[in-house]
Amino acid sequence: MLTAVFSDVHGNLEALDAVLRDAREHGAERFVCLGDVVGYGADPNACSERIRGLGGIVVRGNHDHACSYRAPLGWFNPVAAAAARWTRKQLSEENRAWLRGLPFEAQTEEAQFVHGGLDDPRHWPYLFPGEDFSAHFRRQRRILCFVGHTHVPLLAALIGGRARVARLARFRLSPDEVAKVTVNVGSVGQPRNEDPRACYVLWDPAKGGVAPRRVPYDIDAAARKILAADLPPLLAARLSIGR
Ligand code: ZN
Repeated sequence: MLTAVFSDVHGNLEALDAVLRDAREHGAERFVCLGDVVGYGADPNACSERIRGLGGIVVRGNHDHACSYRAPLGWFNPVAAAAARWTRKQLSEENRAWLRGLPFEAQTEEAQFVHGGLDDPRHWPYLFPGEDFSAHFRRQRRILCFVGHTHVPLLAALIGGRARVARLARFRLSPDEVAKVTVNVGSVGQPRNEDPRACYVLWDPAKGGVAPRRVPYDIDAAARKILAADLPPLLAARLSIGR
C-alpha cells in the first residue's frame, strides 16, 4: 500500500493540506507522521485533528511533548519556547490528550519510525548529515527506518559496516547491497534546506521504493496567520526562505 511518510508539520495547516493532497493524487492510501505536529505554526488544533483523522502511525516529537506537558522549556531556544507557551494555551483538551498519548517510536514489519533517532527515542537526538549514525544503526532492527527532527532530508545507509550519508533522492532498496537504510523525510511545515516547499516521501513497502516529494503551498497565508497570532515574527519570515 503506497504510504506517505511525513514529519515536522509544526502547526502549518497550509503546508499539511498541500502535502496530503499531493500524496492522495499520487495514490497514497496510508499515512505515517514522524512527530512535531505542533509548535511554531498558527494551527496546532487543526493540524492535530487532520493528522489524527488519517488513522495512521504517529510518533511523538519534542515539540509535541513540550506543548502538551507543563515541563520547563529551558532546553528550547527563546523563539521555540515562546511558540511552545503560545501553543500550550491554544491546544484543546482533546488534542493535548492525544499528543500526550503518542508513542516515542513505532514499527511495522517493513520499517521503524522515530522522530529523532533510535539510540534514544525519548530524548530526540539530532542526526544531521555530519553526525555519527552508528548508535542509531545498532538499534535499527528493520532494513528501513524513517526519521525527522532535523528538517533536513537525507539518506543514511549502512554498507559493509560503515554508515554513509547522502542527499535524499529516489531509490529502491536492494538488500544485497545495503544492510540498513535510514531516511530523513525532511519537514512539511518548516523546511530548512534552503528550499521553502513542503517536503515528504512516498514509500512503496512492497517494492521497497522511496521517492522524495517537494510541494509548493501558500506560504504567505501561513506566515500571515503567524503574525496575526502574535507568534515571534521570525517564524513567519523563515518560511519563505526555507531556513
Ligand atoms: Zn521539528
